[in-house]
Amino acid sequence: MKNFALFLKHNRTKIYYAVVTFLLLLFFSWSIIIGVTRLQLYRQLTPVMSQWLLIVLVSVGSTTILIWQFVRWRQAESLSHFIHDMNRIARENSDSMIEWHAAYAPKTQALIDVSNQIAKNTRQIREEERESERSKDEMITNISHDLRTPLTAIIGYLGLVEMNADTLSAAEKAKYIHTAYDRSNQMKVLVEDLFAFSQTQAHDAVLNISTLSLGDLFAQLIASYEIEAQEKHIELTQITNPEIIMLEADSDKLARVLMNLITNAMKYGKRETFIKLTAQVKKTDVEIRVINDGVKIPNKDIVDIFGRFYRVESSRNSKTGGTGLGLAIVKGIIEQHQGSVSASSDDELTSFIVTIPLKQH
Ligand code: ATP
Ligand code: MG
Repeated sequence: MKNFALFLKHNRTKIYYAVVTFLLLLFFSWSIIIGVTRLQLYRQLTPVMSQWLLIVLVSVGSTTILIWQFVRWRQAESLSHFIHDMNRIARENSDSMIEWHAAYAPKTQALIDVSNQIAKNTRQIREEERESERSKDEMITNISHDLRTPLTAIIGYLGLVEMNADTLSAAEKAKYIHTAYDRSNQMKVLVEDLFAFSQTQAHDAVLNISTLSLGDLFAQLIASYEIEAQEKHIELTQITNPEIIMLEADSDKLARVLMNLITNAMKYGKRETFIKLTAQVKKTDVEIRVINDGVKIPNKDIVDIFGRFYRVESSRNSKTGGTGLGLAIVKGIIEQHQGSVSASSDDELTSFIVTIPLKQH
């Protein structure tokens, strides 16, 4: 009895379709027989003709019913397999794929495709989350390291002064305090950069948009770098095409972008003779370039320099004192403006190319 109940449970779709098919065949054959008998009754057909008509109608009709019911049964079976597989995935791991197998009817392929696409998207989101966790951990390690280095020096130098207050000469004390002061400034710059960087990463950061003249902004920046450029014998110029370009942007943030790029050009363009700021309108965008001559950025680094804390090998140990956040800040701000930034560098020129829409939506 128990086995029979189990058999019924496992084969209920088959039993259902078998019973329905049997009833349909019965009803169909009965209707044909009644119809043909009527025709014969009214002398429309000879007995031989009605016999043939009966045979043809019943066999064609029954075959059609059988095929139709078989297709429906296959689809129902296929759907229950699909639901079973989906349940399993929901229980185990929502990003596994459904493999095609013989129990599936061709029409189920569309459902499998959709479900596999969802699984693929879920997998991708998980990967991205994992990656973001990993880079956050890496960032915390980098920050701790970069903050600890100057802090250790500050504590060291101030400790020397504190512990040897009676023995140190005034000149020595001044020297140690001066070094501690320098390192404190270095820490301040790092903390400020970190703050600016974290602001560019906030998805809901608000831009303070206004309409500004790019030529005027260039002129202000050139004026503020004039003395430094003169000291380094660098010619700092600007070209805009058309001459007046009006642009919707957060002026403080855009100025910060350009300052980061000009500071870099000043710091890293070894043996350079000029820095040029150019702007050209291209359809609905403006393309801003900060170009300098001097030493080339190696091809292998050209994409990575926009990453946090990334510095080209040769700059890492130099005294230029950067933290590697400048270009990550540039990228963050430009992306907030719906724009993009890239760099290109060869033996003659290094260019940073910023493209942003003229109007912000
Ligand atoms: P920070 O800007 O945070 O003080 P940084 O200048 O080292 O530090 P980024 O501005 O992100 O960091 O620049 C990353 C690296 O890209 C630099 O260390 C430098 O090696 C390289 N770089 C950037 N601009 C130029 C340039 N104009 N010419 C040559 N190398 C450059
Ligand atoms: Mg920099």
